[in-house]
Amino acid sequence: KYSTFISSSMILVTGCSVTIMAAVSGKYEYFTSAYSGLFIVMFFLFSFIRIHFIYTFFIALSLSISYLIVENLIIHPSENVQLVHTFSLISATFIGTLIAYSVEYQSKREYLLKKLLSESLVTDTLTNLHNRRYFEQVLVEDISNFIQKTELTEDKRNNENNTESSKYGILMIDIDKFKNINDTFGHHSGDLVLIQLATLLRNNVRTSDDVLRLGGEEFLIVLKQTSEEYITGFIRKIGSAISNYNFIIENDITVNCTVSIGLVVVPFIKTNNIGKLIQYADKALYHSKDMGRNRGYRLYTKNDEVYFEEMFWDK
Ligand code: GH3
Ligand code: MG
Ligand code: MG
Repeated sequence: KYSTFISSSMILVTGCSVTIMAAVSGKYEYFTSAYSGLFIVMFFLFSFIRIHFIYTFFIALSLSISYLIVENLIIHPSENVQLVHTFSLISATFIGTLIAYSVEYQSKREYLLKKLLSESLVTDTLTNLHNRRYFEQVLVEDISNFIQKTELTEDKRNNENNTESSKYGILMIDIDKFKNINDTFGHHSGDLVLIQLATLLRNNVRTSDDVLRLGGEEFLIVLKQTSEEYITGFIRKIGSAISNYNFIIENDITVNCTVSIGLVVVPFIKTNNIGKLIQYADKALYHSKDMGRNRGYRLYTKNDEVYFEEMFWDK
């Protein structure tokens, strides 16, 4: 917005000063060079300055009109000269605007196509959630930046009075015995469960959080810039919401399913290796499976030792 305003004003000021310089001198030959100078300004306006074509049109039009008025008032050119100057300036304005419009239209189309393409590369077609590629291309960097930032404030964190609550919760979620749903009701019903679970997850996080389908019946949630209380509260809420949810499959039949969850909280886990972080979350998930499913575990590390703590929810 600012750059549009600045470029527009600069072009307007330049164009007007060209005319004013000629007007102040009041001589015919100066008007001739101001006339050519105005075309150079117009050329810049239509070719290099990337502003909305409507602005381009009004700037060119006001420059042309002010030049024609000033020329007419000061050197009273012959009717022929007036006609030629008016015609050339006005046609330059319209043709230039047309070109600016088509360039803008083309680049907008290209931009939208590119966006659509890159969006579809990082989106899972079944659930419309982001996919594993999104994790690799966007989230990894996001989490790394967060870890780096917290490392810079390491001293602050070690201070016992520290009440700073900025944490990332990384949750690995896997549906329990999902194969049974496929085997009993068919693959299509399994797909319907995945779609509904995706919606349920998405509706329970904040818009700034990420919900991904990593593949199969495995989901990843990243709760950003939040507190430990929020993360544990979220798991309690989502765990029981899922186990109480009636997933609608064909012929109005509903099925129930449960999930197991593995959680790590950054920066409590001290690693800046994202791969390791995900491994830990996976480890916590498989611990939940081992302990009987429909439950969640949080993984801690202390002196290179791994600990688990159960996250309870109503069953
Ligand atoms: P566990 O509790 O140990 O996780 O058991 P599980 O049956 O969920 O785990 P397992 O990994 O053995 O099976 C996952 C199943 O998920 C196998 C596969 O057929 C199914 N699956 C993977 N992707 C899709 C999908 O896109 N649609 C459907 N309907 N099923 C899928
Ligand atoms: Mg499973
Ligand atoms: Mg699985």
